[in-house]
Amino acid sequence: MNNKMKISDFFVQLQQIDFANILMLISPSIIYFTAKKPIESNYKLRKDFKIGGVKTASLPVEVIRKFDDINEEEILKKQFGELIMNFANTVKENIPEINLAIFLNNLNTLGTFIKSFGVSNRIFNRSTAGQYDPKKNAIELSKDTYNLTINHELFHASTTIIDKSTGMIYCGFQQISNKNTQIGKGLNEGYTQYLSEKYFGNNNSLITAYVYEKRIAETLEMIVGKEQMQLFYFNANLSGLVEYLKKYAPEEEIYKFINTLDFSNEHMDDKYLIPSSKEIIKNGFEFINSFLLKTALRKNIIDNTAAQLSTEDVLKSLIPILTLIPETVKSKNNSFQISGDKQIKDAFTSVMSEYELSDDRKTISK
Ligand SMILES: [Zn+2]
Repeated sequence: MNNKMKISDFFVQLQQIDFANILMLISPSIIYFTAKKPIESNYKLRKDFKIGGVKTASLPVEVIRKFDDINEEEILKKQFGELIMNFANTVKENIPEINLAIFLNNLNTLGTFIKSFGVSNRIFNRSTAGQYDPKKNAIELSKDTYNLTINHELFHASTTIIDKSTGMIYCGFQQISNKNTQIGKGLNEGYTQYLSEKYFGNNNSLITAYVYEKRIAETLEMIVGKEQMQLFYFNANLSGLVEYLKKYAPEEEIYKFINTLDFSNEHMDDKYLIPSSKEIIKNGFEFINSFLLKTALRKNIIDNTAAQLSTEDVLKSLIPILTLIPETVKSKNNSFQISGDKQIKDAFTSVMSEYELSDDRKTISK
């Protein structure tokens, strides 16, 4: 079969859909290369892995914009000054003004340092090449690879604010109260890398950089819409994103999605995963795909103004999402095959059961 087949042929009747076949045709596999992580012997993921009860908080006060514009003269005096100006100009061209308060505040006062990550990378067996330190408002980059990581780190700098009264760090879609209590890292890194490559090209990517998380963040943006997604990200408003999604998914599932992406980000590259641990990670990937499909499906139904919808149209509107969600996730040490057909069928069936289908299953009533 080729891609030019008539898609409507597949949607004549819901029960006749060959989901496995559709998936094979339209969902590309993704490959995830990653940094090496510390070797942990006797490592076993807890079977009862559960959400740690972390909830999001809203910034207690509105972000006050302290600058009218980027101070080019000052920035050009800094190390990497020209690259920072290139970043700033691209962001100003592409991102609406309303999202630029944190960006202006932090970029104008940003510290820049060259750092050798060699020693810590060797000790911890990883390949960090750059980082942003929220407390110092400074980027630290390796002298060999700074051009590959600078835009990613500058996006972190453009989206981070600390609430001084509580010490809570709000960074894009991530919130950190202390090292053990944080939420949203997976989504934040994924979206940060997605924007870096979107606005600055693929050469802004170490082959190690968040390929899986990026794909998931891109899919979520397709559901939420670019404008809304950017508004939440640049204003460090994870709780705003959760509130928005609550129209289309139960709150508990939204938190489970965010936490599962954090969990995957933390563990998918681990060495020596025992089979039951691998299974837990695979189940996480399946949950994430299923959450995205169900949320997209509900949004297509809820946002549609017609009282009666054609089943075929509703399913067809999911195709962009189906082309993005991964079918396979590969890391340096592991490969995970996500069971696409059954899971997609279950997601459809589950959401459809929330609505009324006509006897011939051709229309859905809200
Ligand atoms: Zn990052």
